[in-house]
Amino acid sequence: MGVKHNITKILKFGGIYFLPMAVLLVLGFFFVSNSIEYLKELIAFFFFIAALFSIVLLFSNNKIRKILTILFLLILLVLLVIKLSFYSHYGTKVSASALFVIFETNGLEASEFLTNYINLTVVGIMCVCIIVLGLAIYFLNKPNYINFESNLRLKLFSLLILFLSLGIIHFKFSSENIIISSVKSFSDYKITKSNLKKNLAQPLSNNIKVKATSKEEKTYVVVIGESTSKWHMQLYGYGRETNPKLSAIKDELVIFDSIITPNVHTLRALEKILTLSDFHFPNRENNASLVQMANAAGFETFWISNQKPVGIYESIPTIISSAAKHKTYANTKESGYAVYDEILLPYLKEALDSKAKQKLIFIHLIGTHAIYNKRYPETFDFFKDETNTDFKHSKSKRTINEYDNAIRYNDFVLREIIEQVRIKNENSYVVYFSDHGDEVYDTFDFVGHNEYHGTRPMYEIPFIAWFSNKYKANNLELFNFKKITKRPYVLEDFIHSFSEISNITFDRFDAKKSIFNQGFNKKLRLVKKGEDYDKR
Ligand SMILES: [Zn+2]
Repeated sequence: MGVKHNITKILKFGGIYFLPMAVLLVLGFFFVSNSIEYLKELIAFFFFIAALFSIVLLFSNNKIRKILTILFLLILLVLLVIKLSFYSHYGTKVSASALFVIFETNGLEASEFLTNYINLTVVGIMCVCIIVLGLAIYFLNKPNYINFESNLRLKLFSLLILFLSLGIIHFKFSSENIIISSVKSFSDYKITKSNLKKNLAQPLSNNIKVKATSKEEKTYVVVIGESTSKWHMQLYGYGRETNPKLSAIKDELVIFDSIITPNVHTLRALEKILTLSDFHFPNRENNASLVQMANAAGFETFWISNQKPVGIYESIPTIISSAAKHKTYANTKESGYAVYDEILLPYLKEALDSKAKQKLIFIHLIGTHAIYNKRYPETFDFFKDETNTDFKHSKSKRTINEYDNAIRYNDFVLREIIEQVRIKNENSYVVYFSDHGDEVYDTFDFVGHNEYHGTRPMYEIPFIAWFSNKYKANNLELFNFKKITKRPYVLEDFIHSFSEISNITFDRFDAKKSIFNQGFNKKLRLVKKGEDYDKR
C-alpha cells in the first residue's frame, strides 16, 4: 500500500473527528454573540479534537480505535451540548462561578435547575449532536474508514501533536475547556470550603474579640430571605399588592431603600453578608461570623432553616449555621416535595419560649427561590392577570404571577414572624433581608439570577427592620430613621450594622460600615470584577 494512499485514509478517518467541529462552527455562530469569543472557542475545540485524535493514532488495533473514537466523540458532543446551551441561556461561556453554584447545589435544586434549563433550544442542540453521533458511527462501521497502517513514524508524530495540543490548551485556552475549568474551580471551591470550615464552624472564633453585653433580657431575630427582589415588593413601590400584611404595619417598619447585595448567588452573597468577608477580602483568612459574634456576646443562638442542609459538600450557610447552639433544619425531605416557609413558625415559637435570657434567632427562608409556584400553598394563588411587562408572552405572564404570589406568601410569613416576636413584649428587633433578587422580566426577557447579567433586580434587595417598644425605649439615639433609610449600602458590611443594633461591641467594628451609625460613610459599592455599582 502506498504511503500517499495511507495518509488519505488517515485523513478520512480524521474527518469523523471533525464532525463535532462542524457543529460548533454552525451552531456556535448563532449562539456565541461575541466574535472574538466564537473564534477562541473554535481554536480551543480544534486543539482538543486534535489531542483526542492523536491518542487514537497511537493504536494499531482497529477495535480499540473504534471504541476510543466512539468514546471521544461522545465526550466532545456532551461538552458541546453543555457549552452551546450555556451560551444560549446566559450569553456567556461556562463560568467558574456557575460551576461553583452547581457544586453547592443539592438534588432538589439540581432537578429544579434542569427543569428550567432544558428548553426547546437545548433539546434542539441535543438532537443535532445525537444525529452527528449516529453519522459518525455509520462511517466507523465502513471498513475503509479505519484500517489504515500504523508505524513508528506515525506514532511519534501523533505523540508530538498530542503534547503540542495539550500545551496550547493549557497555556492559551484553559478557560474555554470545560474539563480544565471544572477541575480548577472545584479545587478553588474546596479551598474556600476548608477556610470557611476552619474559621466559621466552631461556636467561637479567635478572630474577633467581643465584649460581653449587659445581662438584661433581649430577643433578636435575623431573617435571611431568598431570591426576593425589592422590584416586586409593594413596600418598595411595586404596583401590585404583594405586601398587604407588611403594608398594614408600614409605620412600624424601617424600610431601607438603597441596599444591594455584594453578589447575586446565594453562597457568595451569604459568605460576605454573614461574615467579615467583603469585596476586597472575599473568603478572608481570619474570618468570623455573626453567629460566632452572638455566641461570644453571651446570646443563646438558634438557626432555623427551610433550606436543605447539604449540597454535594456541605453548603456555605450550613457551615456558618453549625456555630449556632441550636440548629433546626425543617426541610430534610429527599423528594421534590415543596415545604412552605410557615413550617418554621412553630420552631420560632419554641425558640422564643425557651428560658435563655438573651436570644439571637437566625431564620433562613426558602423565600421566593425558583421554581416559584412551589413556594406557596394554593390559597396564595392570587395574581392571575396580565402585568405591564415589556416582555409579553405566555411564559412571562405565568412566571410573573407565580413570583408575585411567592412574594405575597413571603409577606405573610414575615408578618407572622414579627407578630410572634411582638407578643413576647420584650426588648426585640426583627431584621429581614434577601440574599439577592431575581430578574423576572423586569429589565429584559429573562428569569433568574446570574452574575454575568447582574441586572438591578438581581442586586437590589429588601432590607427591613422592626423594633419593639421596649427596644426603642432603650435605644433612643438609634431612632432618627428618616435620615438613614436613604443611605446607599452594600450588605457585605452587615456584620457592623448587626453588631450595632444588637449592642455587641467587638474589636473590628467599623462605624463607617454600620448603616445605623452617625459616623456612617457611603463607600464605593463594587460588584462583579470591580464595577462601581452606582456608575453602571
Ligand atoms: Zn439565593
